[in-house]
Amino acid sequence: MNRGAHIAAVSRRLAEHFRGRLLRQDDPDYAAAARVWNGMFDSLPGLIARCRDAEDVQVAIGVANATGVTTAIRCGGHSLAGFSTCKGGLVIDLSEMCQVQVDEGTRKARFSGGCLLGTVDAETQKFGFAFPAGVVSHTGAGGLILRGWNWLAEPSLRTILRQRSGFHLGPRGRLGAAGG
Ligand SMILES: Cc1cc2nc3c(=O)[nH]c(=O)nc-3n(C[C@H](O)[C@H](O)[C@H](O)COP(=O)(O)OP(=O)(O)OC[C@H]3O[C@@H](n4cnc5c(N)ncnc54)[C@H](O)[C@@H]3O)c2cc1C
Repeated sequence: MNRGAHIAAVSRRLAEHFRGRLLRQDDPDYAAAARVWNGMFDSLPGLIARCRDAEDVQVAIGVANATGVTTAIRCGGHSLAGFSTCKGGLVIDLSEMCQVQVDEGTRKARFSGGCLLGTVDAETQKFGFAFPAGVVSHTGAGGLILRGWNWLAEPSLRTILRQRSGFHLGPRGRLGAAGG
């Protein structure tokens, strides 16, 4: 199967259960959606799956596994290695999953996978709290937690260790507990 037919098959499988937006190369919004913040990387993916929620991410990872399509997961799109996009494959785009909930009593914040640092900071600062993360507000919070350094927690590990709990998506798209 050639690449075009393959990505069309991926798109059809996704459309069965995916509730977010699927952006193909002929979509008028595709060009803007394909662009990543780190402009050193300008690969054009075959399909962008803009997830609405964690279930959509599970669906997308399930289809990626089943079809073997080249896949990139994107949060803020800053990846220095170019991992925010891929050529001809599937981009699982988390950018619309940007809810933040702050619990003042327990001093904990929960945020979804597409949040940028600025989004998290704006909400936590309302309560006088700070998220010990990076210094560039349009970096993805999820991407940074996986790697990075920051003003308030010098070594990068501290940012990771300060994430007391959460969920990660395993290789088969299963939700699992992370941190503790
Ligand atoms: C200009 C600039 C400034 C920076 N400043 C800082 C800084 O102040 N502090 C700092 O610590 N780092 C900084 N970094 C590094 C940055 O934190 C990392 O490159 C980070 O991984 C970018 O995350 P992102 O979500 O924006 O990028 P993305 O490319 O979207 O994601 C980065 C990686 O994480 C993966 N990923 C993202 N979200 C998820 C998820 N929910 N589940 C699984 N995988 C996921 C992506 O697939 C990709 O491999 C900076 C980078 C740049 C380019």
